Formats: sequence, structure tokens, C-alpha cells
Amino acid sequence: MLLNIVRRNSARGEAVAINGRDLLMTGALQVVKTLRLFQFQSIIGTTRPFGDYFRGFDKVEAVRRIFGDKTEQVLRDLKVEFIWAGGYMGVNSVNGHLMVSPKYLNKGDKTDIYLDVIHELVHVRQFMEGKDLFDSHYSYTERPTEIEAYRHAVEEARRLGLSDARICEYLKTEWMSGRELEQLASAVNVHCKQVQKHAKK
Ligand SMILES: [Zn+2]
Repeated sequence: MLLNIVRRNSARGEAVAINGRDLLMTGALQVVKTLRLFQFQSIIGTTRPFGDYFRGFDKVEAVRRIFGDKTEQVLRDLKVEFIWAGGYMGVNSVNGHLMVSPKYLNKGDKTDIYLDVIHELVHVRQFMEGKDLFDSHYSYTERPTEIEAYRHAVEEARRLGLSDARICEYLKTEWMSGRELEQLASAVNVHCKQVQKHAKK
């Protein structure tokens, strides 16, 4: 197994679900709220080396495609912050740390978590390149930085043999409308048959 997620006493503390795979919603006001949340989390969260929780990622081809020769160094320097407010995973736009919900790490689907790490590592590189990860000129499902991150995750999902239906499940989040899912799926060339079904939710 390529992935070894090490679980420690990270399940302490209640996690409350908040909207957004990247703790992100569209619109300038919501972005400001998100940034405030990040600052708050920086204070209360504990910061640990990425390698304390995620192992073997330096050997993953999909990760090496993101960082190339710098893979070992980037992963060695990468810090993880635990976000007690809940959510899934994200990259802190202030310091580039990977932010992870302990609840998600403990209870989430392992394949989803694995693909999310690939996705977020693309954001880590984008952060290093000075890109704006929360460019409010775009909605979440149209933002070039998101499309790029999802493309890497989808490519890896395909390599793992996941069907389009399963990848579609991965792409779908509870806060995404059917239209947005359709938009994202089409941007990353995934065929989502169930878009209509999701749209009714
Ligand atoms: Zn993202």
C-alpha cells in the first residue's frame, strides 16, 4: 500500500461540519470569513510535520509529478495544522500549511483522503508559486487553481482504477449544487451520470 495514514490522538474535540472541501465558499464576504477562520485555527490548532501523519507520499508518482526533484524537501518542510472546527482539508493561505480535520482523517473514506492529499499538495505548490488560492474572481468549481488540483487527483483516481461513477462521488460535496458538480466534472473530463440526481438534493 502506497499510503500509510498514521492516526494518533487526533479525534479528541468535537468537530462541527462546515461547508466546503477547502473551507471555502464563493463570494468576497465569505472569503473574508474564511480567512478569519484560518487565523483562528492557526492559534488553536496544533502544528506537526506532514510526515508524522502521512507516509510514503514521497514515493507516489502523482506527488513527484507535482514537486519533481523537490518532493522530499517539500514534504519534509510541510506542516500540518489540525482544524478543530471541522471540514475536510485545505491549505492555509497565510503560511501554506496543510490543514486537516482530525475527524475527517479518522472517519473519512481512505481513498477520498488519499485523493484529497494529492489535491491539496497541488495547492501547496501553487502557494509556493505565489498564486492566489482563493481568487474571488472565480467560483470554486471554475477557479483555475481548483481545476488544476482536481485534475491531478482525478488522474491518480484513474490510475487506481476508480470508475467515473466513483470519481464523481469523490468530486461531489454536500455544498455543491448539481450544476457546479457538472461544471467541475466536465472541467476534469469525468462523466457524471448522476448529476441530475444530485441536482435534486
Ligand atoms: Zn482545492
